[in-house]
Amino acid sequence: MPGFNTGGRAAIATAPPEPHFPGMSATAASIVPCPHCDALNRVPADRAATSAQCGKCRKPLFDGHPMALTAASFDRHANAELPLLVDFWAEWCGPCRMMAPAFENAAAAFEPRARFAKVDSDAEGALSARFSIRSIPTLVMLHKGKEVARLSGALPPAQLNQWIETHLPR
Ligand SMILES: [Zn+2]
Repeated sequence: MPGFNTGGRAAIATAPPEPHFPGMSATAASIVPCPHCDALNRVPADRAATSAQCGKCRKPLFDGHPMALTAASFDRHANAELPLLVDFWAEWCGPCRMMAPAFENAAAAFEPRARFAKVDSDAEGALSARFSIRSIPTLVMLHKGKEVARLSGALPPAQLNQWIETHLPR
């Protein structure tokens, strides 16, 4: 498969150089894991992240939808500089299904300030155990590998957005 990188520095796609803005810090780029292929992408802070594409799979880094996380992909996204909001849910859970559209809308509203993800608590028992998930839905906000906030139970859309705004790391 042409262009396929197995890892290391080669997996980091570098965006083209940005014009210099006097008075602005030249640093502050962030590494954003791709929601489709998990490749690490360097996105300069002054670049419109919503229009950025993955250097590996060419899909948008932000498409306004929550991604599905598994044990295999979880840590790469949880350890990122980009805050990660995880919805632990299950197919049989009525309140989970009730909150799903609000979570979907929140993903579109808050990207690219955070990554939104869903973990199927039945399929991913090890992740549920690691986070001591006792009831679903449970939302866990992570930043650079650390849990920064947690919410158990479904909220109506307006309150959900308010909770995210309050707890989103700056
Ligand atoms: Zn990708």
